[in-house]
Amino acid sequence: MSTPDDRFGPGSQAALRDANQRRVLEVLRSAGELTQAQVARNTGLAPATVSNIVRELTTAGVIDDADRGKRRRMLRLARTAGMVIGVDFGHRHVTVAVADLSHNILAERRVPLGPASSARDSLARASALLEEALTAIDGHMSEVVGIGMGLAAPIDSRTGEVGAVSILPGWVGVRAEDMASDHFGQHVVVDNDANLGALAEHMWGAGQGCDNLAFVKLSDGVGAGLFIDGRLFRGRNGTAGEIGHTTFDEFGDVCRCGNRGCLETIVAAKSVVELLEPRYGHDLTIADIVQMANDGDNACARILADTGRQTGAALASLCNLINPELVLIGGELALAGELILAPMRESVRRCGIPSSTHDLHIRLAELGARAMVLGAVALALQTSGERTP
Ligand SMILES: [Zn+2]
Repeated sequence: MSTPDDRFGPGSQAALRDANQRRVLEVLRSAGELTQAQVARNTGLAPATVSNIVRELTTAGVIDDADRGKRRRMLRLARTAGMVIGVDFGHRHVTVAVADLSHNILAERRVPLGPASSARDSLARASALLEEALTAIDGHMSEVVGIGMGLAAPIDSRTGEVGAVSILPGWVGVRAEDMASDHFGQHVVVDNDANLGALAEHMWGAGQGCDNLAFVKLSDGVGAGLFIDGRLFRGRNGTAGEIGHTTFDEFGDVCRCGNRGCLETIVAAKSVVELLEPRYGHDLTIADIVQMANDGDNACARILADTGRQTGAALASLCNLINPELVLIGGELALAGELILAPMRESVRRCGIPSSTHDLHIRLAELGARAMVLGAVALALQTSGERTP
């Protein structure tokens, strides 16, 4: 009697085994580490099949068996299965990180980089930094199976072009993914800073275990990364989550997007600083403002509270739309902590519909300045393959 597998000839058994093996590798890469029972559950494969595959891959050195003998043995991909790289181009820096496929960050480097640097110069700088990071862990580009890259800019997912509403002028109009892939000699996946923040916080930070969250970046740019039902929601052209360009005052200041009175013109870090300059002079930073507010300065405390309140009104609309469980606040203004969060929560409660906001948590993101580069690593982990025996 023929079974479904041998109906297609002798080749199909091998094809099935390969497909099952790929599935096991995929769930391990996605989770970092799992027990054998969890691998069976996540793949939907029979425990005996998983057991065979794990034995083969352990013998081949692809799965790490360092914990062999423990009762609850955790399986993870060994370094021989490959490494992934994250590269983050921010407003004033470039950061690179190297990780293994079980989600351990092995090396990380960061150097200042002017916002006006051309895309080519920026990539050359990243390569030099990467070389340094790889050398420190005795690694080599030939071990790299995936590269993720972050840009503080909207990226059109149809054309791959960096949009004009960017705080990185050197990248505007550049097909970032194509250029970076040419530069590194392998496929590079690119995403914006807010999306990467959401991915990173979900994998390593305050959003672990939460499948419906918004990561809101409050810096010179303002935007949200939306993690819905366990995956990043990018929208048709990759511009989902641009809450910084919600109209707040139709006749307000002209925004870099061309509209007037966007939320970003009111709550961006530089707008907050500008509001206080007439009183305290130039060279103020957000850190100074937070310090003065904590020391009892009324104007600084008031401006931070108002920033929280105005952001909260926009967040209420976002929560009405996507009903997240958690909103994580990151970016420079997160330095203000409760000074900004308390009024924000109050404003979300006041403006949002109760069913979308009554059990909503609004907290600080945890990864700070590392969020973007870690998000680029998470993106590489999601999209890479691995070196198989
Ligand atoms: Zn705008």
